Amino acid sequence: MADTNLMSIPGQVDPVPVARDITPRADGRTDLLGLPRERIRDLFAEAGLDAKQAKLRAKQVFHWLYLRGVTDFDAMTDIAKTMRPWLAERFVIGRPDVVEAQHSTDGTRKWLLKTDDGHEFEMVFIPDADRGTLCVSSQVGCTLNCRFCHTGTMRLVRNLTPGEIVGQVMLARDALGEWPKGAMDDLGEESESAYTSDGRLLTNIVMMGMGEPLYNFDNVRDALRIVMDGDGLALSKRRITLSTSGVVPMMARCGEEIGVNLAVSLHAVTKDVRDEIVPINKKYGIEELLQACADYPGASNARRITFEYVMLKDKNDSDEDARELVRLLRQYDLPAKVNLIPFNPWGGAPYECSTPERIKRFSNIVFEGGISAPVRTPRGRDIDAACGQLKTTAEKKSRAQRDREAAEKAQTVEA
Ligand code: SAH
Ligand code: SF4
Repeated sequence: MADTNLMSIPGQVDPVPVARDITPRADGRTDLLGLPRERIRDLFAEAGLDAKQAKLRAKQVFHWLYLRGVTDFDAMTDIAKTMRPWLAERFVIGRPDVVEAQHSTDGTRKWLLKTDDGHEFEMVFIPDADRGTLCVSSQVGCTLNCRFCHTGTMRLVRNLTPGEIVGQVMLARDALGEWPKGAMDDLGEESESAYTSDGRLLTNIVMMGMGEPLYNFDNVRDALRIVMDGDGLALSKRRITLSTSGVVPMMARCGEEIGVNLAVSLHAVTKDVRDEIVPINKKYGIEELLQACADYPGASNARRITFEYVMLKDKNDSDEDARELVRLLRQYDLPAKVNLIPFNPWGGAPYECSTPERIKRFSNIVFEGGISAPVRTPRGRDIDAACGQLKTTAEKKSRAQRDREAAEKAQTVEA
């Protein structure tokens, strides 16, 4: 097992960048997943290739990695046969380990994943008629302790590396059978029939899984750059949304250096209530946050900022709150849309969800104020995949129980 330092859990902290982009592996090989092309080139050069060779091989490997989803150097058919074992001795192309995969009755899928050093985190895939959205985690746990969020109650926190973040997208494409033809069958042969994609399933990414992405800025930026790279996964920045609870000092850089759509977890319109439910508000208040939104590079009427608002009974759901929300968004002249999220309950949560009538009324008031405010339908509630329910099931289920379930599943499949 690799050795990784865990972040301490200081409550509200300033961004904690993790300098390391490569998690050391016990076998001494280097995992290339999540490294930019230039870094791969440098590693090849350090391992002994001359500059020209290193550059060419890095380009080829990058292509196989992200365009074809290949994890085995032997399958890289345009690389000389003698070169492939040389690569395999020194490098690997990893994926996060899958501890458990769950399928909701509504089609939502959730994966419990594990880092090389044994930390568990989750990702969720939400299929819709016209799109498929992958909800990606940026940290194991979260330091911010929003009172309605299950992730905030996790004890263990560590930033995910770029490889662990990109790895979620890769794993989702593996699971959805989405690599272009040339996916390899068991024999390592190219096989057209192995390609089973029924259209692009994974079309959008939201950084709304576990963790606060702007507290892991460098790694999230580097990972998303790879996801957007035109020679690889090539997902448009317009199809990626990063959600922040309001880490104001990092928002401008997010717009400049990543350039994806922004979602802001606003959830309340008064200082008292937001201080209580989104404690980072004590550090960066509502006015500061909305000003940072107004200044967000790239926001326009065509690319609106999403304001997430979780509906908590008798806490933030009055007519007055709705009117104040409209007033604030207008005051800052924000190209905004509001996403009303029915609170997803979890055991021991200190809040209840607002009634459907209350949510409808709140939504109408915001609509009448000229701002779109759809109510988000909760997805994957039966497998705890809905917003804010993410918390590794490992803490709830024992290893033995999971093994039992896996065995039962295998039997059902065989029967
Ligand atoms: N840390 C980031 C991104 C992850 S949270 C952020 O807070 O924005 C993703 C979204 O789920 C946030 O809007 C969060 O407020 C919301 N959420 C958290 N717990 C929830 C719950 N129990 N019910 C509904 N939404 C929740
Ligand atoms: Fe962290 Fe976001 Fe949950 Fe708050 S809502 S605890 S910032 S994951």
